[in-house]
Amino acid sequence: MKTLGHWIDGKAAESTSGSFGPVYNPATGEQPTRVSLASVEEVDAAVAAAREAYTTWSQTSLAQRTAFLFRYRELLDARRDEIAALITAEHGKVHSDALGEVARGMEIVELACGITEKLKGELSTQVSTRVDVSSIRQPLGVVAGITPFNFPAMVPMWMFPLAIACGNTFVLKPSEKDPSASYRLAELAAEAGLAQGVLNVVNGDKIAVDRLLTHPDVAAVSFVGSTPIAQYIQAEATAHGKRVQALAGAKNHMLVLPDADLDHAADNAINAAYGSAGERCMAVSVVVAVGAMGDTLVDKIAERARTLRIGPGDDPASEMGPLITREHRDKVNSYVTGAADQGAQVVVDGTDFTVEGHESGFFTGVSLLDKVRPGMDAYEDEIFGPVLCVVRAETYDEAIALINSSKWGNGTAIFTRDGGAARRFQLEVEAGMVGVNVPIPVPVGYHSFGGWKQSLFGDLHIYGNDGVQFYTRGKVITTRWPDPADSGGINLGFPTS
Ligand code: NAD
Repeated sequence: MKTLGHWIDGKAAESTSGSFGPVYNPATGEQPTRVSLASVEEVDAAVAAAREAYTTWSQTSLAQRTAFLFRYRELLDARRDEIAALITAEHGKVHSDALGEVARGMEIVELACGITEKLKGELSTQVSTRVDVSSIRQPLGVVAGITPFNFPAMVPMWMFPLAIACGNTFVLKPSEKDPSASYRLAELAAEAGLAQGVLNVVNGDKIAVDRLLTHPDVAAVSFVGSTPIAQYIQAEATAHGKRVQALAGAKNHMLVLPDADLDHAADNAINAAYGSAGERCMAVSVVVAVGAMGDTLVDKIAERARTLRIGPGDDPASEMGPLITREHRDKVNSYVTGAADQGAQVVVDGTDFTVEGHESGFFTGVSLLDKVRPGMDAYEDEIFGPVLCVVRAETYDEAIALINSSKWGNGTAIFTRDGGAARRFQLEVEAGMVGVNVPIPVPVGYHSFGGWKQSLFGDLHIYGNDGVQFYTRGKVITTRWPDPADSGGINLGFPTS
């Protein structure tokens, strides 16, 4: 069995804690790797390396920082397949989806390549006689990133490329369920010439996270994960004086109006609900069908759901892979088995499902639940699996009231041909990311990503301009250079002109 350690100060660091966690291949159920779970001392070593590197890195010229980022971008481009294969081996998602993940992560590296534009300051001359004012943005210091299992390469890349482009150094604590892709990203950064200590990876669990949240040399924490942990991260890290952005869970609604192209809507519902086995924070987990077309829409979704090819992620024929762990698979299935008792209609039941030759893999089939209502477990919880709920509504007003009453507000979408209705929806809906005939509206790298309500704790969203704001702090400099002809003199008044 392979043992994955840490990456500290530009090199591999073997674990000294003696504590390990299992890393499975979800398609086979085997455990080819164990990941080291860092002790407090190991986290301290990573933070110390980052702190030491910060002295030089924060003073390294923009030209040198961006030169690294361009080299890194090229190396990632050449290694897309290799990184995607690592993702598939530990997460389970199909290779094409893993390649998409790498591409979306690389968008932020590309954004970071242009950091010179983002870090240009502002200057006002002659605000008062012979007085100029400039505003600049400076790095924070050591930034920590704590990331979830469902995007083991993309979510870390939402964070560290921009953070280090801004002059910070970084300590990443990836998900212990699929840590190898993050580790490889750090190795490749070193290969592209990143100075030692600028990017460190400590593997671990709550012990490592808690140390990062309280460490006096960590200035800021970027977190992506589930809502209860995000809430905890924000409370704990802010209590220790850190800047925090904590992106959290979701239950994304897709509103389908009666005038929509129902085949198009059904295709999109399938892609957004079952892609990556529903383990996406932007997955559509609820379709809100408005009006009498509900039965037709459910039929169209069900027809498509029954044809999906489920199998190992490294088989090009597979459209959907397994879930992350056996326990998670069983929990996902329990929502389907419990749904009928609570009054929902199980239209497609994927719970009794195995893949031939992969009987020990963590597979489940796709499920479709109709006539779901608020109050049912399948509606109230983030299932994070291939289970799509359909809620029926009589009118647009009823539908939007339902969506806005959700405790989450990550992404949402409307499917319609009516521009006026779409415009009203985009202004009225309470969510951070809205799609119009786009089911998963993940913003491109140069716009920021973030939800509302219990989908985000903190105020700034991640990447884009918000990301630059988050990883820098402002400084305003007021300057007066006396005119050589100025005689000076004493004036105790308040200078106003
Ligand atoms: P998780 O909250 O269980 O874990 C996320 C990170 O927190 C991991 O690194 C984990 O080690 C750490 N962690 C877990 N329990 C902890 C504890 N008690 N104390 C301290 N640290 C702890 O999330 P997950 O299951 O890995 O990922 C899935 C969740 O992430 C879903 O809820 C999904 O919606 C969410 N997510 C949100 C976004 C977004 O942008 N809003 C993106 C991706 C995933």
